[in-house]
Amino acid sequence: MLTDLGVTQVTIPLPFRLNHVNCFLAEGARGWTIIDAGLNTTISRDCWQPIIEKHEITDIILTHYHPDHFGYSGKLQQLTNAEVWMTEVDAHNGLTFWEPDSLVEVDRNYQMCGLPSHLSTELTTDEKSFNAQVKPYPKVSHTLEEGMKILFGKYEYEILFTPGHSDGLITLYNKENSILFSTDHILPRISPNISYWFRGIRNPLQAFFMSLEKIKKLDVDFVIPSHGKPFKNATNRIEELLLHHQERIEEVYGYLKKPSTIFEVNSKLFKKLTIHETRFAIGETLAHLEYLYLSNQCNKELINGTWFYEAV
Ligand SMILES: [Zn+2]
Repeated sequence: MLTDLGVTQVTIPLPFRLNHVNCFLAEGARGWTIIDAGLNTTISRDCWQPIIEKHEITDIILTHYHPDHFGYSGKLQQLTNAEVWMTEVDAHNGLTFWEPDSLVEVDRNYQMCGLPSHLSTELTTDEKSFNAQVKPYPKVSHTLEEGMKILFGKYEYEILFTPGHSDGLITLYNKENSILFSTDHILPRISPNISYWFRGIRNPLQAFFMSLEKIKKLDVDFVIPSHGKPFKNATNRIEELLLHHQERIEEVYGYLKKPSTIFEVNSKLFKKLTIHETRFAIGETLAHLEYLYLSNQCNKELINGTWFYEAV
């Protein structure tokens, strides 16, 4: 299928349970274009090296700022002189999130979640460990805008803003063939992490629902995700994701009969996680709590520096 589109998938291994990211290579309007780069690791370098030796890379499109997509882009840009394209909001996020001021804020925010202090230190340390894997930063040359058209292989794709998984996440849509590069917006086997981190879009879960509805209207036949294998029928998967979150919202609501910290709710929702996974879990729990709070289904109160949520 990808061959018919003139697109090559470049699967880059990742050192996590989610053990790979799908990047893509195709001919663009001026030379070769890459979508997403992987983490800055020697494995990513070894994957890209033979490719950049054989192709003149002129453009790198970054679908969002998360390290597994953005991390190697600066290095790849240095090696190829390519121009880098990102949404304005995620360019800002990628260039600031792992900086010292931001990490101090991350640490302060964890303390408001009611975590045992050793755990909040471990989580911040884990966050800091990404610093080396996202640098050097790319020099962002162009801003991706909603509706912009990009030639990628045999076809042209429209840039669609689909915030939720990140504030500036894009997907790429070809109407004629009903194809969507769904990036991390719609994944086949796992539900994309939707996190709130006390910054950015105020209600990311609501944003994610709206982005799912936006894609549902397109009735896409063929979906090419950034993790996992291509699959058919976007609408089926969208329905599953909506249902999953609806059930989780109800589950979280059920835990709020008495005032609960973010960590207490998180511990009921998720078991047996690594530190890296715990970060995503806390963000996901908080996104659901804030969804309930912003839809007036619970109250929250800051007591001695810790947030408590309680159902109304
Ligand atoms: Zn990803």
